[in-house]
Amino acid sequence: MKTYIVGNWKMNLTVGESSIYLQKLLKRIRPTKGLEIVVAPSVIALQPLGIQLGRAKSKIKLCVQNFYHRDYGAYTGEVSVTQLRGLVDYAIVGHSERRYVFGETNKDLKQKVAAAIRNNITPILCIGETENERNFGETADVLRDELFGALSEIDADDVKKVIVAYEPVWAISGTKGAKIAAPDDVAESINLIRNELKEIYGKEIAEEVPVLYGGSVNPNNAGAYLTIPGVNGLLIGGSSLISDHFVDIIELAKRIRS
Ligand code: PEP
Repeated sequence: MKTYIVGNWKMNLTVGESSIYLQKLLKRIRPTKGLEIVVAPSVIALQPLGIQLGRAKSKIKLCVQNFYHRDYGAYTGEVSVTQLRGLVDYAIVGHSERRYVFGETNKDLKQKVAAAIRNNITPILCIGETENERNFGETADVLRDELFGALSEIDADDVKKVIVAYEPVWAISGTKGAKIAAPDDVAESINLIRNELKEIYGKEIAEEVPVLYGGSVNPNNAGAYLTIPGVNGLLIGGSSLISDHFVDIIELAKRIRS
């Protein structure tokens, strides 16, 4: 299975800044077998970055941070994954900021996962409990609910086209009072997610679904998360905005893989 290093730039960087960042990245990274490097810039930067990548598209993949589930139509202000075909390979679905700031529900996310798969774009489905849910011992229930809320209509063939990202909301740097998750706690949740997938889709298929970790990852703690059994990569917010940090994490992932 590949290792995925995904940078989520959120609502940061202008188109010009995004382009300068990409230039730095292109200079510093070499394609490495088994390592998939993905960046999710603002939607307005996708097209220029796609052109800038040109033949280097195999070196760095583009990801959209959000989209609407319909393919075309009278949906003012929205962008569909159909319109993004050929431009992005990945789409983030269900990021906690989408769930809690924009009120996206499991029903919305189920439609988004289906739309991404229908358009041959890999959804990166984010799931994770809030601090309160964790304190009340509800982590397992929340993970199960968010996982199957979004995947309930996805069959065994299609689930292999999905990436799951475990992102405890309380560990995301943008969350007020964010904390660093202990690798043992992350391991427990990753295990839980994998077991849920096994129960529904069977062992063989469940093992083909990449599961990433995300939440305050930086060059100092990335190694500890990447070496958790069952973790197939990282989804990185804040630290991915600093190209040197992102490259350091990529280099670390290369060393761990080899
Ligand atoms: C994220 O927003 O997906 C994320 C993991 O952010 P951060 O790395 O900043 O905690």
